[in-house]
Amino acid sequence: MACLFCKIRDREIPATFVHQDDEVFAIEDISPQGPVHLLIIPRRHVESANALGEPDEKLTGRLVRVAATLAKSRGVDERGYRLVFNTNGEGGQTVPHLHLHLIGGRQMQWPPG
Ligand code: AMP
Ligand code: ZN
Repeated sequence: MACLFCKIRDREIPATFVHQDDEVFAIEDISPQGPVHLLIIPRRHVESANALGEPDEKLTGRLVRVAATLAKSRGVDERGYRLVFNTNGEGGQTVPHLHLHLIGGRQMQWPPG
């Protein structure tokens, strides 16, 4: 059975798309943790950072570059923002399809919760 983000990719579940290209797409997070909260997601189903191999280095670079472009278009690039790959249980990953969180528009705290 297809995962949530595969279903969103295939338009079986609605989402607000903010970017699409041949390798990745980006959507608004349904439960935003800041004024800006986007998810940058590979079109191909990759479970997590643990499943990335050397051939995926271009893909991971694309995820980060698209995130930076979206941060700029949302006007948070200079103020700052956070990019996060939650990975597996203790990492807080709830959707088993790799995704990069872009969160911005408020002061972030460290250490994260
Ligand atoms: P994670 O917990 O790192 O796996 O992130 C999953 C993210 O997906 C969470 O921030 C959720 O709020 C978000 N999310 C869950 N369902 C949807 C949905 N239908 N559309 C958009 N974002 C979603
Ligand atoms: Zn998937």
